[in-house]
Amino acid sequence: MRLAVNQADYYCPNCNHFVVGERIETVSALEQEINDIENAPQSRRRMLAEVIGNIPQQIAELHIRIKWRKNRRSPPKCLHCGCADILLIPDRKEFNHPETGKRMKRSGNGFASTAEWFATYTPEGDQIESSNK
Ligand SMILES: [Zn+2]
Repeated sequence: MRLAVNQADYYCPNCNHFVVGERIETVSALEQEINDIENAPQSRRRMLAEVIGNIPQQIAELHIRIKWRKNRRSPPKCLHCGCADILLIPDRKEFNHPETGKRMKRSGNGFASTAEWFATYTPEGDQIESSNK
């Protein structure tokens, strides 16, 4: 069984760059997602689930993700180099650079990369294979 790697923006001191790293939710946050989908028709999570479609499968995947999360020991890792010392970028328009403290302004983010990249990771976030190598 494979799960998609949820991602967040980080600064990686090893890559010396802004990168995508693992987003590792808490068990209670994942349980809240299930509760929202099942019991809160007006919630953002429920609406997102409806857009994605096949809600029973999404619920089943969330249960598998909870199982994984309960066993996961490692902190989030950089998806490029595997470094675990990554620093989360605050979800704000302006923030201080996590390493230099310099003022940073976010102009946008999203699917800007034009190169396709597929990779597989162990449950602890270590890369098994990558189309990038
Ligand atoms: Zn890195």
